[in-house]
Amino acid sequence: MADYLVRAIGDKANVIGLACVTTDLVNQASHLHGTSRTASAALGRALTGALLMGALLKRGQRVALKFEGSGPLKKIIVEADHDGSVRGFVAVPDAEVPLQDEKLNVAGALGSEGLLTVAKDVGLKEPYRGIVKLLTGEIAEDIAYYFVESEQVPSAMGLGIFVKTDGEVSAAGGFLIQSLPPSEDRTIEQIVENIRRILSVTDLLRQGKTPEDILDMVFSGIPHHFLEKRNLFFRCSCSRERIERVLISLGQEELERIITEQGEADVTCEFCRTRYHLTREELEDLRAEISSPS
Ligand SMILES: [Zn+2]
Repeated sequence: MADYLVRAIGDKANVIGLACVTTDLVNQASHLHGTSRTASAALGRALTGALLMGALLKRGQRVALKFEGSGPLKKIIVEADHDGSVRGFVAVPDAEVPLQDEKLNVAGALGSEGLLTVAKDVGLKEPYRGIVKLLTGEIAEDIAYYFVESEQVPSAMGLGIFVKTDGEVSAAGGFLIQSLPPSEDRTIEQIVENIRRILSVTDLLRQGKTPEDILDMVFSGIPHHFLEKRNLFFRCSCSRERIERVLISLGQEELERIITEQGEADVTCEFCRTRYHLTREELEDLRAEISSPS
């Protein structure tokens, strides 16, 4: 089953739901970054959460999330586009913490003290930015808390990643539910009750439940219909041209120093680990571009 996301809406249009399966792309990310089991779970939750948020954007828009915590993982940075592509990394990929209640301890790895910064590039000059404290460090609750605190949108999110003892990710996915005005107490109470009954997204995915099944469970007792289905994938937005622009932005002095001290440069994209090699001639061309901007 390839990774995909579905969207459903209550027939009264006062509640919207998104659910997705992301097993392949989380696996791909964990291989690219060589993450520990707990780091894979943390990165997987953040990637999946970002995709769910990205699906709420309009065409051409992008959302970026930065989790900074007091734990050994230090930082998780993820970016998702409206088109279903996502990328991301953790600051210390091999950070590991002991299991808690026989489960991977994501909050222990990230740390429950810290900040979540959400930046949305919606085509304005400056991206929209919201910052909240981490609520639990479990990722899903932190994102839901951001929606409530920063955007005043009542939201619930569930994320589940299962990492086998050999490090392989065998199940990943999640859901996001938002109440739209005019909100209706009875509908919200029903959804809260339905979510309470779900207990674990990881277990549902491991039982072979699809995103459609999960939304049907969340919407249980509430008439709803599905609006769309889209594919999801891990894809970076880096390119040689973008790396060259970064090098140019370092300035003439810094480029001169690299040419003198190293002669050439290897630049690795943090999001996807792609390595770009620049020869001395290429670096000199970039330096020339700074001194004589066209
Ligand atoms: Zn990249």
